[in-house]
Amino acid sequence: MSASVAPRLPSIDGLLRHPACVPLLERYGREALLSRLRQLLDELRADVLNGQLSAIEISPEVLAGRVGERLAQQQRSNVRRVFNLTGTVLHTNLGRALLPEEAIDAVQMAARYPLNLEFDLANGKRGDRDDLIEGLIRELTGAEAVTVVNNNAAAVLLTLNSLGARKEGIISRGELIEIGGAFRIPDIMARAGVRLHEVGTTNRTHARDYEAAISPRSGLIMRVHASNYSIEGFTARVPTAELAELAHRHGLPLLEDLGSGSLLDLTRWGLPAEPTVRQALLDGADIVTFSGDKLLGGPQAGLIVGRKELIAKIKKNPLKRALRVDKLTLAALEAVLGLYRDPDRLAERLPSLRLLTRPQADIFAQAKRLQPALARVIGEPWHVSAVKALGMIGSGSQPVARLPSAALCLRPQVSKRLRGRCLLNLEAALRALPIPVLGRIDDDALWLDLRQLDDEPVWLAQLPQLQVDP
Ligand SMILES: *Cc1c(COP(=O)(O)O)cnc(C)c1O
Repeated sequence: MSASVAPRLPSIDGLLRHPACVPLLERYGREALLSRLRQLLDELRADVLNGQLSAIEISPEVLAGRVGERLAQQQRSNVRRVFNLTGTVLHTNLGRALLPEEAIDAVQMAARYPLNLEFDLANGKRGDRDDLIEGLIRELTGAEAVTVVNNNAAAVLLTLNSLGARKEGIISRGELIEIGGAFRIPDIMARAGVRLHEVGTTNRTHARDYEAAISPRSGLIMRVHASNYSIEGFTARVPTAELAELAHRHGLPLLEDLGSGSLLDLTRWGLPAEPTVRQALLDGADIVTFSGDKLLGGPQAGLIVGRKELIAKIKKNPLKRALRVDKLTLAALEAVLGLYRDPDRLAERLPSLRLLTRPQADIFAQAKRLQPALARVIGEPWHVSAVKALGMIGSGSQPVARLPSAALCLRPQVSKRLRGRCLLNLEAALRALPIPVLGRIDDDALWLDLRQLDDEPVWLAQLPQLQVDP
C-alpha cells in the first residue's frame, strides 16, 4: 500500500473534543491527556506512513482506549500493597511490622491535625519530642531516659559518634557483623569516627581479651547481638553482666546493640527466647539500641535507651537533628508501646505478635480450605497441595529458629528441564495480580506460606485473574 492511500491520523484538537476522550479529560486533566495523546500519535505516525495501520486501529475510540490505559498505568501508585506469603514475617523488603489499629488511628490524627510535637502543654513552653514516649519507655524497660531516631542503624551511628568519637571502640571479633548489605559494624564505627579495636576470635572471646585491650585511648565497649547468623559449637562469650562490671571498673560505658530486641520475654508465647531490653539494662549495659519495626511491632525507628547523662550527651550531638523521627512515627510508636502495658492482650492486638503466634493447625486448616480453589484456577500442569512448612521471624531475629507453619505448595508436573522456567512464569503471574502475591521458590516448587494471609476473601477474589504463561 502506498503512503498516499494510508489512513490519516485524527487531529489532536478533534481528539480532545471527541466523546471518547471527554471522560479522560475530566479524570486526568487536559495537560496529562494532551501529552499522552501527542506521544501516542508520534509513535503511530511512522506506521501510518508505511501503511501498516488500518483506519479502525486509529479511530478516535481506539486511540482513546490506548491513551486511557497509559494514563491509568501512570496514575497507579508506586507504593503498593502485596500479600506476603514468603514465610518470613518481619520481611525487611516488604515493610517489616504491620501496625495495630491503635497506631494507625494515631498516625491519622498526627497527619490531620496540629499536635504538641515539641510543645509542653503543661507549661506552654517549648518541649522535646522524645518526652512524648519517655514515660512509657521508662515503665516498660526500666531505662532512665530515651531518644528516638530514624532506625536502629542511625541509633548505633549516633551513639557511637556521641560517646566514642576519636577514641577506640572495643568489640569482639565474633560480633563484627553485617546486616543486609549496607550495615556493617566496622564501617559504621569508622563513619562514627570511632577506631575499631577488635578482640578475641570469631568463636571465642574472653574477659581477659577485653581487659588487655583497655588503654587511655579506649572510649567504649560495644556488644552487638549476632542477629542474622549463629555461632555454635566451641564458643565463649562474656556475659553482659560481667562485661559491664569490667567496663565500669575502667570508667567505660558499655553499649549493647540488641538489633531486634524485645520488650517482653517471647517464650511466654512459645516463641524462641530473644534478649529483652530490660534484662540488658539490668545486666549493666549503659546504652541499649534496638529497632522499632522488628519484634517490637511498631513503625520504623531506632530507640536509644539507658543512663540519663549519656542520653543527654547523645541528644546534644548535632547528628541527632539529622536523624530524628517525624511526628507520624512518634504517634505510631507511642500507641504501640501503650499496648505493651497489657501483655495479656498483646498477642490479639499487635499484628506482628498475632501472626508470629498463629498456631500451625490453624494455618494448615486454611491451606486445606484454599487448596481446591487454587488448583481449579491454575489447572495444568500444576499439582497443588496443602502442606506443613517452616517459616521464619525475619529481620535478623532468631536466624536459625523456624516457625512451624503451613503452605500451598505448587509443583509443575513437567520435565526437569522445563521446571525452572515454569516456576519463574508462575512467580511472575502471581506478582502481576492487582494485589501482587509473593511466595518463595524452593525445592522445585513454589510455596505460598499462609501464616500471613489475613484477608482470605480478597485473595480469593483476585485469583481468577491469574494468567500464567505456559
Ligand atoms: C536490624 C539490626 C540493625 C539495623 O536496624 P534497622 O532498624 O534496620 O536500621 C542493627 N543492628 C542489629 C544487631 C540488627 O539486628
